[in-house]
Amino acid sequence: MKLAEMTTVEVDQLSRDVVVVIPTGSLEQHGPHLPLFTDSILATAVSEAVERAIPDKVLLLPTVWMGASAHHQAFAGTVSASMAGYIAAVQDAVRAMTRHHFTKFFLINGHGGNVDPNGVALREIKAENPDLTVGASNYYTFCESEGEKLLRGPLKRIRHACEAETSLMLHVAPHLVRLDKAQDGGLVTSPETSGLILHFDEQTDVGSYGYPSYGTAQVGEALFNAAVTGLVRNLSAIYEGFVLVSRDEG
Ligand SMILES: [Zn+2]
Repeated sequence: MKLAEMTTVEVDQLSRDVVVVIPTGSLEQHGPHLPLFTDSILATAVSEAVERAIPDKVLLLPTVWMGASAHHQAFAGTVSASMAGYIAAVQDAVRAMTRHHFTKFFLINGHGGNVDPNGVALREIKAENPDLTVGASNYYTFCESEGEKLLRGPLKRIRHACEAETSLMLHVAPHLVRLDKAQDGGLVTSPETSGLILHFDEQTDVGSYGYPSYGTAQVGEALFNAAVTGLVRNLSAIYEGFVLVSRDEG
């Protein structure tokens, strides 16, 4: 079910076991070949496919499109929420639905910069109301093992405006992809370091990272289907109810 298309009467009659799903995206630069709305387009498309697969189990809200994108702000067109503003938007949506007595919430995220604030937003909500079931996952987390097998370029992980994201866009919205403009590249630290917080203009001149020129719609379809399958399984378990069992039984 899609909340935006329902009437208040229909919402009133819904089972409160449904999982309220909120996609989270961004409006930020995606290099010379992908549109600014890429993360929102992909998070929305995956979420809508999940809703079509299990319409009675999920209540899909419109996408929170203004993401936490300060690390992309050096590039033209990026529109970022402040961290506090983004967290407030997510929490306001959840709290509004708790007023209507929904108890299960899941964020389907399409943007790396939203990961930390999604966690903060939901941890604060859970601290206020421990009886709620709350969670978040990046849709692309469910594509990772498929990506390792299918991606043809040297980078097998999913990064920003990379082969994987370009492939997904070639599957979902091919008319918005300027593949002839794609540029492969991106900088790594030397010596190798981990844990650094870097802005994108420090890591790439053009805004993309990885090997977008290898992108294909066929790989995009496989990644998309893996994301939908994984999320359908995850959300079905949350809808049907889970128990916590000892590690040996699990
Ligand atoms: Zn992206």
